Amino acid sequence: MKNLTDLKGTFALNNGVEMPYFGLGVYLSEDGKEVTNAVKWALEEGYRHIDTASIYGNEEGVGIGIKESGVDRKDIFVVSKVWNSDQGYDSTIKAYEASLERLDLDYLDLYLVHWPVKGKYKETWRAMEYLYEHKGVRAIGVSNFMQHHLEDLLTSAKIVPMVNQMEFHPYLVQQELIDFCNKNTIQYEAWSPLMQGHIFELDIMKDLAEKYDKTIAQIVLRWDLQKGVVTIPKSSKKERIRANADVFDFVLAPEDMKRLDALARGKRFGPDPDNFDF
Ligand code: NDP
Repeated sequence: MKNLTDLKGTFALNNGVEMPYFGLGVYLSEDGKEVTNAVKWALEEGYRHIDTASIYGNEEGVGIGIKESGVDRKDIFVVSKVWNSDQGYDSTIKAYEASLERLDLDYLDLYLVHWPVKGKYKETWRAMEYLYEHKGVRAIGVSNFMQHHLEDLLTSAKIVPMVNQMEFHPYLVQQELIDFCNKNTIQYEAWSPLMQGHIFELDIMKDLAEKYDKTIAQIVLRWDLQKGVVTIPKSSKKERIRANADVFDFVLAPEDMKRLDALARGKRFGPDPDNFDF
């Protein structure tokens, strides 16, 4: 198990950049007050990592939250993603600049290729490499890349992606993909770590919450971190943002880690990276 200290703790990426292993997701947090408040509450609580994307339509509100928080820009790890219709070389560079403008920032800590769009993602990756080398993006990565997408990308990539952000929760572990990423120094990151809310329905989670005297969200998020997976639960509610991050005062025993691992059944709540039409 990697060393887990507190909400500001980090995993080192393959280029040496430190990525806070616990962040705030903002998909479906509405632009304006809702997302601005979520970002401010998270930063007040000690979160140092915010995950947005151009397609979420809330980069402006995220940027305002960052500014109003009073936390130093350099202490926050800001992530955005290039949307599918912007893939390609020139359009990725333009999309990056447009994201920066909406966020009102001069650089991103991590920029991701949101989905492996067939016939496009290699050109997109060349643009990501350009952004990394010339535009001050601190790290570049991908999202929703299965092993075959990564293998294909690596045949022409000059830079190995630093991160792969994937749907990940007890029903969708994809351990072989995690092992492949670990072997290739690609940090694995979880989206929908709370199964978009379905995690709360599982009896085993209720048992473990009782056993450790923690909430179901805290149990599953702690499992992510003990597996070495970066996690970005979404909430727009102050109390949940606070409570979700309270995962540094207990350790899941190896047998309980295994019980959660054993729930894996290849079940997705989001789209399939091998079969999406957007
Ligand atoms: P999550 O698994 O994080 O679940 C979010 C849902 O759980 C919301 O409805 C939230 O509601 C609710 N919730 C949060 N905390 C609690 C709690 N303690 N008790 C009860 N309910 C709770 O889903 P997401 O799909 O949002 O994934 C997280 C992040 O991952 C996204 O926000 C986004 O940043 C990223 N993502 C990336 C994708 C990609 O393709 N790269 C795809 C999807 C997500 P409420 O807000 O009301 O608290």
